[in-house]
Amino acid sequence: MAALLPNGLKRRLRDLALRGDAVHCPLCHRGAIAFLPSGTPPRPHALCPFCGSLERTRMMGLALKERGLPKPGHRVLHVAPDRSLREMLRKAPGVTYIAGDKQAPGYSYPQDTIDLDITALDFPDDHFDLIICSHVLEHVPEDRTAMRELCRVLRPGGTAILLVPMSDRPTTDEDPSVTDPEERFRRFGQTDHVRLYGRDYMDRLREAGFIVTVDDMAAQLPPADVFRYGLLRRDLLVIGSK
Ligand SMILES: [Zn+2]
Repeated sequence: MAALLPNGLKRRLRDLALRGDAVHCPLCHRGAIAFLPSGTPPRPHALCPFCGSLERTRMMGLALKERGLPKPGHRVLHVAPDRSLREMLRKAPGVTYIAGDKQAPGYSYPQDTIDLDITALDFPDDHFDLIICSHVLEHVPEDRTAMRELCRVLRPGGTAILLVPMSDRPTTDEDPSVTDPEERFRRFGQTDHVRLYGRDYMDRLREAGFIVTVDDMAAQLPPADVFRYGLLRRDLLVIGSK
């Protein structure tokens, strides 16, 4: 029976079944009975069934809203954008929004995504008011070069949201000789990660020129809000400015 239904109708029926008010996505502004599991291994309560946002995406959405960003007239650079945050930022009034990704053969990218090498950005100094680079640097072998480039194109007084997967260990686990995907998964958490950052991630950003602020906003919220917005209490909002 389900196989006979057109995809659009299937999606509408699924959306109807999931609609509720136990949780709320701050990116697509829709309520659901729950967030769905996502990741390897799967994390419960992670994925918005409507827009695909994850815990960290919703944290960034809340943080931007709290700070009133982006403002009209702002230039925004979104590196390797997640769909949900991209939709929110594209619609922000009066904002020049640039989405970029390192485009690899065999992959498709949303229209208007420019090919971007974050170790050699083709933008002038002090250009962007807001930069979002989330879960990208752990894929980049020359991450220090990328950090310096991101800092260079950020306007003084601007905001760069720079999230990476981070362990509680003080130092980053990094070994360029590890190229075997299984070994990378075991040590760095994903087959295409080249390191697992420790708490010295913030030092690396400072060395690249950023003033670094760490906001543990998810840990500061009441537990009911953490559940309602589907956040991870341990996630840190790392912000670079200059
Ligand atoms: Zn959503």
